Amino acid sequence: MTINEIVKATITTLTKNRIAMTPENYANAFCRIAKEKGFMVEDCKSVSRFIEKLNPAMQSDLSKYNVKTPDELLTYLVATLNRLVGQSEGKQSLILISLVKRLLQSISLLHNKEAKELASASLERIEYLADHNTFTLVKDKWFDFLGQYDDDPMKKLKAYYTLKSDDFSEIVDELITLEQNQEESHIFEPLASLIIASLSPSIASSMDDDLATLSYELRNSPSILNTKEVQDEIKLLVKRRISLDKNEVKERIASLDNLLGDVSSKIVTLIDNSNMSHDKIKGIKDELIALDYTKHSFEMMKEKLITIANSLEIETESLVHVMQDDDKKVKNLQEKVRKLELALAKAKKETRKDFLTNLISKRGLDEDLNRVDKSYERYGIDYSICFFDLDKFKMLNDTFGHEAGDIVLKYTGQVMNKIKRDVDIFGRYGGEEFLAILPNTALGGALIFAEKIRQEIEGYDFLYKGERITVTVSAGVTNRKDFSSQKAMIEGADKLLYKAKEAGRNRVFPENA
Ligand code: GH3
Ligand code: MG
Ligand code: MG
Repeated sequence: MTINEIVKATITTLTKNRIAMTPENYANAFCRIAKEKGFMVEDCKSVSRFIEKLNPAMQSDLSKYNVKTPDELLTYLVATLNRLVGQSEGKQSLILISLVKRLLQSISLLHNKEAKELASASLERIEYLADHNTFTLVKDKWFDFLGQYDDDPMKKLKAYYTLKSDDFSEIVDELITLEQNQEESHIFEPLASLIIASLSPSIASSMDDDLATLSYELRNSPSILNTKEVQDEIKLLVKRRISLDKNEVKERIASLDNLLGDVSSKIVTLIDNSNMSHDKIKGIKDELIALDYTKHSFEMMKEKLITIANSLEIETESLVHVMQDDDKKVKNLQEKVRKLELALAKAKKETRKDFLTNLISKRGLDEDLNRVDKSYERYGIDYSICFFDLDKFKMLNDTFGHEAGDIVLKYTGQVMNKIKRDVDIFGRYGGEEFLAILPNTALGGALIFAEKIRQEIEGYDFLYKGERITVTVSAGVTNRKDFSSQKAMIEGADKLLYKAKEAGRNRVFPENA
């Protein structure tokens, strides 16, 4: 059979089967008929020639779909290709890129500084451009990272704790438990007592109530240190304790300032009063005056005062010798003073005594009169006085001489003194005048006493150089009750005495009491 016959048979078949005479239908029918007639047409072999070159899976696919024409083969290949491009390579690379991103994001969350930084940098780079070069670069960087990475921290951890697991969070949990156990049993107690000590004011004398309460709670249950409230309270109270101390220091500085001021002014006075005129002492004084307690620091003040104290010590050492000498002098003087005091006491006693008559003197009488008058004023103890005056004594002196007068005075005094009672006071008031003070005695009794004396003197004979001398005495008597004051009473007695003289002497007034 010729090609033409095959062509005729093809057209006939197509027409007979009412198949459209398209190039494709024609080629298909032509090749089928040629093959049936045993003809090997080159054009009909081209499809299988291509199919032979495909992989076995595709070849079986093509035989399954009965692909005969180049057109069918092409359709199959295009479909396969479309499937490959859409599903495999494109999608796969997108999946890989997002996988890489997720991995990098996960790494960036890990607590490894280098890995984190490298992951962030890689991500940035990929976000910017996800091409081949980028991935090569990123891959190289990670390769470097892996080459340099070491787990030193884990090795260090091993020194404190036997690592039993590769799970880091489990390690951390175990460590926390370990730490808590340790804290509770060992750390809190000493820590609590340390904190109590630090809460106690070191300068201020007492802590306030809050500080005391917290200290008490810490001592009883040290583990409360683990709570945030207690930690916050400690912070607050430590500030309070510092401020307590600060206040105390302020107050102490103020009182110390006063004290220093006081001490320095005392030292200045001491130096002023001493006989030290040494230049150095003057220097010390100037320095003390110049000290300003408000401006200098404590340390500086301390140093200055120590310098001053040292200088004073040196100076006082030399002063000690002088003072020891002075001490001897002072002791001698004290002895002298003691002797003088004795002499003075004796002299005082003597001033109470009249030198001529040995009776109580005017001064003694005045003292006694005041004493008796006080007991009258205070307790109402009544008393009377008698003023005695020797009559015409001037004449006696003139007649017998002054010496005779003295002797008469002496003996008259003694005679009168003998008559008085123990409780009575009798003395020489002046010249030839005598005074008797009679406590607890009314006017009547006093007049009797005065009269007794008058009579005694009148009847007494004085002998002087063989001559008999007669002496008489006049008296004025008053009672304290009759006068408003002691002075008025004395004046009253004086007046009565004058009246007795006027009335002729040798008598006692008032006469008719
Ligand atoms: P009348 O009676 O008025 O008291 O006269 P009278 O002379 O005593 O009084 P007058 O006051 O005139 O004189 C007092 C005299 O007493 C004066 C003085 O010579 C004498 N006389 C006073 N004191 C002493 C004394 O201590 N010794 C002697 N010898 N005479 C004295
Ligand atoms: Mg007289
Ligand atoms: Mg007289």
